[in-house]
Amino acid sequence: MRPMREVPSALLARREELLRRIAGRQVALFLDYDGTLSPIVPNPEDARLPEAMRTTLVALARHYPVAIVSGRDLPVLKGFVGLEGVFYAGSHGFEIEGPGGQTFEMEDGRALLPELDAAERELTSGLAAIPGARLERKRFSVAVHWRHVDVGRGPEVERVVDAVLARHPRLRKSGGKKVFEVQPDIDWHKGRAMQWMLRALRLEGEGVLPVFLGDDLTDEDAFKELEGRGLGLVVRGEVERPTAADYALADVEEVRQFLELLIARAEGTAR
Ligand SMILES: [Mg+2]
Repeated sequence: MRPMREVPSALLARREELLRRIAGRQVALFLDYDGTLSPIVPNPEDARLPEAMRTTLVALARHYPVAIVSGRDLPVLKGFVGLEGVFYAGSHGFEIEGPGGQTFEMEDGRALLPELDAAERELTSGLAAIPGARLERKRFSVAVHWRHVDVGRGPEVERVVDAVLARHPRLRKSGGKKVFEVQPDIDWHKGRAMQWMLRALRLEGEGVLPVFLGDDLTDEDAFKELEGRGLGLVVRGEVERPTAADYALADVEEVRQFLELLIARAEGTAR
C-alpha cells in the first residue's frame, strides 16, 4: 500500500513499462462502473454510460474478456451498461451473470436477507429525524446516503448506523463517497468475485493477466488479490487514500484512453 498520489500514471510515466508487462499475455478486464466508466453525478440514478465509453466497450469486448463489477444491483447495472457478451457482477460480486449463461448468487448472503430487512426498518425510523439522509435498499445491502445532510450532522448518521449494527452482528458497515453501506458480514467481495469469473472463463494460468480498474475503497480488495499476478489501476477521485494499485488514471476520460490503447494493441496499431 502507498499513498494514491505516489502511484504513477498508466498513460504518461509508465505507458511503455505497462505495455511490456502485458505483452504476450491474455488480458482479462474487470471494470468498476460508477466513477470508472461513468462520471460521478449528484443523483446515482442518473449515472448513464457516456456514448464514447459505450463505443469503446463494444470494441474492447471484441478483443478481450470483459466484466463489469459494481456495488449496484445486478439488474440496475445491466440496465446502465446494456452490452451483450460481457460478465456482470452486481452487489459487490454477490450476484454474477456471464454471457455464456453462467450465474452465481452468494448463498450465505441470501440467508441474511431477513436480517437486512430488519436493519432497513430500524434505519428508516432512526434516520427519520435527520434531514437529507436517504436510504437506498439494494438486494444485498442498505445504502445510507448522506451527501445532502448538513456537514455537522454526518457523525449523527454514523451513530444511527452503528446502533443498528450493534443489534445485528451478522451485518457490517462499509463506506464509500458520502455513503454507508450495511451488508452481510461475509468474506466475499469484488476480488473474490473476480476470481470466480476467472475460473468460470477458464482463465487461470500463468499466461493470463487480470487487469482491474476502479476508484472505490471496495476495489482495493481486487487490487490486493492481483498483487504479483495481475494489474490494478486506480482512478483518482476527490479523496486521497492508500492504495494497492500498480498504476493510476486521472478520471473517466483517461480510463477510456487506456482501454483504447488496449484495443489498438489488440488490432496491432499501438504506437
Ligand atoms: Mg466506483
